[in-house]
Amino acid sequence: MANCIFCKIIAGDIPAEIVYQDENVVAFCDIHPQAPHHILVIPRHHYETLLELPPAQAGQINEAVKTIAMERGFARSGFRLISSCGKDAGQEVMHVHYHLLAGRSFDWPPG
Ligand code: AMP
Ligand code: ZN
Repeated sequence: MANCIFCKIIAGDIPAEIVYQDENVVAFCDIHPQAPHHILVIPRHHYETLLELPPAQAGQINEAVKTIAMERGFARSGFRLISSCGKDAGQEVMHVHYHLLAGRSFDWPPG
């Protein structure tokens, strides 16, 4: 998708610290980390929000999250997975993405 910053990262047009990729999913470090581990996990295909994300793609992302958590050593200590959908949630980049956060404890409810 033209003018989508995450599509440009997938294409290699914008640099990013890629931590995981497969046929369907790419994960890279957030440029403004909010935790010791702050990884964005996204589908290769451009969908704007969770509302458009097909169930199979959601499952592939979930599997990627588990793999990343195991590889990075925070599967057992814990992590938080967040996807903001739309204006009220504060979604800024309109390419569906999950924030995978770990390495500290997190408050509830979130802000
Ligand atoms: P959201 O507010 O849920 O749409 O989150 C968008 C996230 O993308 C924010 O946490 C940003 O820090 C992150 N972000 C924006 N541009 C980049 C980039 N070029 N590389 C890595 N992360 C980015
Ligand atoms: Zn995109």
